[in-house]
Amino acid sequence: MFGIVDCNNFYASCERVFNPKLENKPVVVLSNNDGCVIARSNEAKALGIPMGAPAFKMEEFLKSNQVFVFSSNYALYGDMSERVMTTIASFVKDIGIYSIDECFLDFTGYKYLNLPKVARSLKNDVKQYTGIPISIGIAPTKTLAKVANKASKKSKELNGVYILDNSQKITDALKVFPVEDIWGIGRQYAKFLKKYNINTAYELSQANDTWIRNNLKIVGLRTVEELRGIPCNDLELVVPNKKAVCTARSFGKLTNNYDLVSEALANYSSVCTAKLRKQKSAANIVTVFLETNPFKVNEPQYYKTKSMELPVATNYTPKIIEYSQQLLKSIWKSGYNYKKCGVVLSGLVQEDTVQQSLFEKGDTEENKKIMSVLDLFNNRYGKDTLRSAAQGYKREWKLRQEKLSPKYTTDWNDLLKIKLK
Ligand SMILES: [Mg+2]
Repeated sequence: MFGIVDCNNFYASCERVFNPKLENKPVVVLSNNDGCVIARSNEAKALGIPMGAPAFKMEEFLKSNQVFVFSSNYALYGDMSERVMTTIASFVKDIGIYSIDECFLDFTGYKYLNLPKVARSLKNDVKQYTGIPISIGIAPTKTLAKVANKASKKSKELNGVYILDNSQKITDALKVFPVEDIWGIGRQYAKFLKKYNINTAYELSQANDTWIRNNLKIVGLRTVEELRGIPCNDLELVVPNKKAVCTARSFGKLTNNYDLVSEALANYSSVCTAKLRKQKSAANIVTVFLETNPFKVNEPQYYKTKSMELPVATNYTPKIIEYSQQLLKSIWKSGYNYKKCGVVLSGLVQEDTVQQSLFEKGDTEENKKIMSVLDLFNNRYGKDTLRSAAQGYKREWKLRQEKLSPKYTTDWNDLLKIKLK
């Protein structure tokens, strides 16, 4: 049996953990730069606020309905995610983290355990240790576990735990499960299937194999097999390393100031290179891009991207900053109002198998030591405690985050304060 744990309304729930006055109140979290709604509490969903709604268009509505609005606080969400996953991993040996708020569980070998009981106590303990409410779906395949999980949220009686452990239960669940909600069936396929009068997961599971293979390809057939209870997706226990890492953000406001963009890019390069070291990779290629705001149709537009192959793969921050600055200089054109820039590091190799060059020195032992001290410091004392001078201090390019909650769990200065009378 496979399970999937999903944190309910994860970002909104994280905001609630440290701010109990948000309980039972509508809460929304906005995307980078306070753009659109990316997370909603159940109360916010009930008000009819759609996912992706642009915040500036809803200001009045949010205010008049007393919705609590937050900028996204990824330091908090990332740390809370780690806590949730660690708690789950203490219950189940094989877990595969699927996203910031979801992980798969492999219950092979747990057949003598009372799964409903395990699931209940898992749910309770995660809530008690982290404050985050979760839902659990368990079934013979990952695709069915996803179905069970979604269904567990819809019914009050199930209260966040649903186990599809016999064929009758599976059939019943599939008969009321919309085809567009199936894991791996995209919007295009759902539209296509509906044209052929396949509206529920059950109807899809009954479709003819050859027809599925011809129209939904082999991946679609695998999904259908999974709906029939035949596992085709193994649990990926180790998240595969990314083939490229990217850090790109919009500036808080449009800018034509080179120094500002250069400082922002130095910061993105530093964040991106730290990601690289976290997965123990080194990059052979650095790409930088720069763009104006395409929605400002009356302003002159410019978009440019440029890559550079490095003599020796590296994950040494000062080098990546130096290369990305060279690239920025070569694509910069003055007279434009820029909205966004970013850096992509690709051609990744494992850091311990870097091909050396006859003419260029790769990262030295000393470089590596400096980076490990830098990572240690910044993990312990907060992001950018140690930084390159190029990253600056003013941060005028920073994202708009007007409604940012404190970093309760990752910054000493933001620790929750309690007044005792
Ligand atoms: Mg979720």
